[in-house]
Amino acid sequence: MVTARELVLSRRPQGRIEPGCFTLVERKLPALSEGQLLVRADCFSVDPSMIPRLSVDTYAAAFDLGAAVEARAVGRVVQSRADGWSEGDWALCWGGWRDYAVVDASEGIRIQPRSGLPPHTWLHVLGVPGLTAYIGLVDVARMQPGDRVWVSAAAGAVGSVAAQLAKARGASLVIGSTGGAEKARYLTDALGLDAAVDYRAGHLTEQLRGVAPEGIDLYFDNVGGGHLEAAIDLLRTGGRAAICGMISGYGKPPGPGPGNLPQLIIKRLRLEGFLVLDHLHRRAAFEEAVLPLVEDGTLHSDVTMFDDLESAPQALLSLLDGAKLGKALVRP
Ligand code: NAP
Repeated sequence: MVTARELVLSRRPQGRIEPGCFTLVERKLPALSEGQLLVRADCFSVDPSMIPRLSVDTYAAAFDLGAAVEARAVGRVVQSRADGWSEGDWALCWGGWRDYAVVDASEGIRIQPRSGLPPHTWLHVLGVPGLTAYIGLVDVARMQPGDRVWVSAAAGAVGSVAAQLAKARGASLVIGSTGGAEKARYLTDALGLDAAVDYRAGHLTEQLRGVAPEGIDLYFDNVGGGHLEAAIDLLRTGGRAAICGMISGYGKPPGPGPGNLPQLIIKRLRLEGFLVLDHLHRRAAFEEAVLPLVEDGTLHSDVTMFDDLESAPQALLSLLDGAKLGKALVRP
């Protein structure tokens, strides 16, 4: 019988998330039923969507108190009672914030790590962040070659893929924004974007006008708030925005909206929100477009790995304070 270590939500945050909202619990796992797998996690994901769900329902229900936080994980099957699955297989599954998990094989996806692609690639560029970037850029904002594109939170998981994909698909200008000079340099030097803006270093709209004096055609929004307002100012007539996330407002009471919405009419702008969960059927097209770019090294997918299960709250906080680069993951 295996004993799993897991981090459960023991108290809903009042304001800022604190490590004290989570408790480490040891739990004896039940014997496997038919169709189940025992998976040892290599790493699991922390996602911005988890932040509001610590407190309230969103598009998914709030996390249950006393239960391990729900999260995607990649790991190795250590025991199988499911047809077609063997010990040693790699699985992408809803493992949660724990080291060992019993999961239904029907909800797991077998992954086949190729040489040079570590398993956590399926939690980043070949996983939900990559698919989200592809859907937002291609299906929602309908990016065209020659578009001038701005991606916010471009040093993060979704943003880094969206910005690099825009470049690979023929954008004439790709601007990434991020917090801090070092990350801004990463956007141009490592990811090959045309320009980078540090939103902490001065007036955002003025900085953007400096690198895109003719404006932009497409905005990929990961941040909301003042970033969205700046985008509405910058977008040219007929411009589009994929509204992917609004992390600047997560875990906070609703604030005032952009003050420049009349420009939507004047410039005939289209701003469209989307949820990747509605687009899972696009997985094959996504893989066809993105896998070759990952395999030939065109698309970088950096991760910040937080070691130890107990570091999961710190990893979650890094999504708010930016103390990570690329995709934040936890190795329990
Ligand atoms: P991420 O970008 O890896 O991490 C979040 C980043 O947000 C941080 O690194 C930080 O970037 C930035 N940030 C946090 N607070 C900010 C603020 N007040 N102002 C400016 N930037 C701030 O996270 P991700 O997983 O890729 O998710 C990115 C966005 O996509 C999130 O809004 C998420 O909710 C959304 N999302 C949506 C879907 C969907 O289906 N619509 C699916 C997945 C994700 P810096 O380091 O640059 O400061």
